[in-house]
Amino acid sequence: MPASSLETIVSLCKRRGFVFPSSSVYGGLSSTWDYGPLGVELKNNVKRAWWKRVVHEREDMEGLDAAILMNRLVWKYSGHEATFSDPMMDCRACKTRPRADHVFAAQKGRDPKGIAEINAAIDAKELSCPKCGSKDLTQARPFNLMFKTSVGPVDLGDDSGLVYMRPETAQGIFVNFGNVLDTMRRKLPFGIAQIGKAFRNEITPGNFTFRTREFEQMEIEYFVRPGEDEAAHEMWIAERKNWYLGLGMNPDNLRVREQEKHELAHYAKRCVDLEYRFPMGWSELEGIANRTDFDLKSHSRSPENPDAVGELKYFDQEQKKHLVPYVIEPSAGADRATLAFLCDAYEDALVKEPPAEETARLRELVESFARSVGRREGMAADVKQRLVSSAESIAAGLPGTLPQLIGLMEDSEAATIEVMKKVRGVGEKIAEEHTRTVLHLHPRLAPVTVAVFPLKRNDARLVEMARGLKRDLQKSGIRAVYDDTGAIGKLYRRQDEIGTPWCITVDFQSLDDQTVTVRDRDSMAQDRVKATELGNTFATRLA
Ligand code: ATP
Repeated sequence: MPASSLETIVSLCKRRGFVFPSSSVYGGLSSTWDYGPLGVELKNNVKRAWWKRVVHEREDMEGLDAAILMNRLVWKYSGHEATFSDPMMDCRACKTRPRADHVFAAQKGRDPKGIAEINAAIDAKELSCPKCGSKDLTQARPFNLMFKTSVGPVDLGDDSGLVYMRPETAQGIFVNFGNVLDTMRRKLPFGIAQIGKAFRNEITPGNFTFRTREFEQMEIEYFVRPGEDEAAHEMWIAERKNWYLGLGMNPDNLRVREQEKHELAHYAKRCVDLEYRFPMGWSELEGIANRTDFDLKSHSRSPENPDAVGELKYFDQEQKKHLVPYVIEPSAGADRATLAFLCDAYEDALVKEPPAEETARLRELVESFARSVGRREGMAADVKQRLVSSAESIAAGLPGTLPQLIGLMEDSEAATIEVMKKVRGVGEKIAEEHTRTVLHLHPRLAPVTVAVFPLKRNDARLVEMARGLKRDLQKSGIRAVYDDTGAIGKLYRRQDEIGTPWCITVDFQSLDDQTVTVRDRDSMAQDRVKATELGNTFATRLA
């Protein structure tokens, strides 16, 4: 069963060292996360796979790593200073500050045309606070999402040292267009790729690493002759979709959504979102926009931009004239992609039936949980209904529904019901012995590629051979770890849970014939392979 809730993924991530709440020793900082030992490997693998595909394997791409802090004028002429904002309003009754465009869309059934239309609706008392229902709302005001800081040793209190933490990596690419064009002697069409941090003071961050204030983007600006933009756009939509699918993403969980006219940024001719079916619903994974010549023109010297030192344009040898290229922008989030791959890879499965009396005891407890939820006062009706129907269907289907029970045991609303403690006391033990959690990550994404175990940790010959194999694999560029901290079955389960595709066991036969057991995570099949062939075997499978 795939992950039914984001909580299941969050819990696995904390338990196994993928992602931790940031600055937790001081109580944390809301919606900020640190990637732990396995998370950093996974995210690095995602970024490496992206870079390899969009830079190294293509003939028409270059890479870039621009500074996060840039001249403030970049953000003036890109339009971010004036327009990169969300409209917010205050509720005078309950003192909350909801996003005015979201309230408008939810209550009027369509997106507003602009802030003026939202404010007209507020004046006409057509909108109400989503929290308390009051119509006593302030006018909506734009709230800029860029973080400010200042450069220089003294802050003079004016704006002289003001700089922004970049809210996207794209502008770093546009302002380097001329540098890359000249130094790399490029001809159209060509693109520039960049991976890096971006910062947005999001009003409503959340859903784990899906929306945070500090995140990493993987962006491409692909420059083409005007007129060749539409075909290039199609090419990138297909190419980006195939990248996710090639790394094992389930095609049923990935879709292409055409943005509607009213959703388009003012400079965009067309934009397509690649959406992933996250546990909280279909949401944007990557946007692929046709930005026309807007950005290069904005950063070129003109009557509208007297501050730019020159023009960002291209000399077309064939037509013997200058032109301003159009731009196709596939813009992905490294954190969102990592989260999507995690959700997609997750599976809880029943591996053997527990004894009937244990199942019966657990069923009784889950039924009693459902009754307690039904009786609970003060719980939102939709939460109540979700918990009761999920508990009833789990109780009816045990032991086959043990994987779903694991999801329910990690549900934060379910944890508020007293009897859940008893369900967990019994359920966790049964789940531990009879189910397995597996991350079916693509081998190229898995944080660890191969884990090597000695059958017995107190036999020096087995330990020495296993450690030697680990070292050899690592030398040949395969991420390998050594572990002897448990019985083999337990070690397999631990590696399954973090997505390690292959485990090697060194046993007594290995000492005689130099063969080892290679166990496959997905099929659980075990093969005997010559130790000398391991490096080649894995390198071929990873290629
Ligand atoms: P959204 O509509 O979800 O706010 P957006 O359309 O503003 O996203 P873009 O500006 O197109 O996003 O950024 C490109 C990509 O960067 C997004 O598709 C997403 O993967 C990632 N991204 C944007 N904002 C965030 C964020 N706050 N946290 C994590 N990733 C983000």
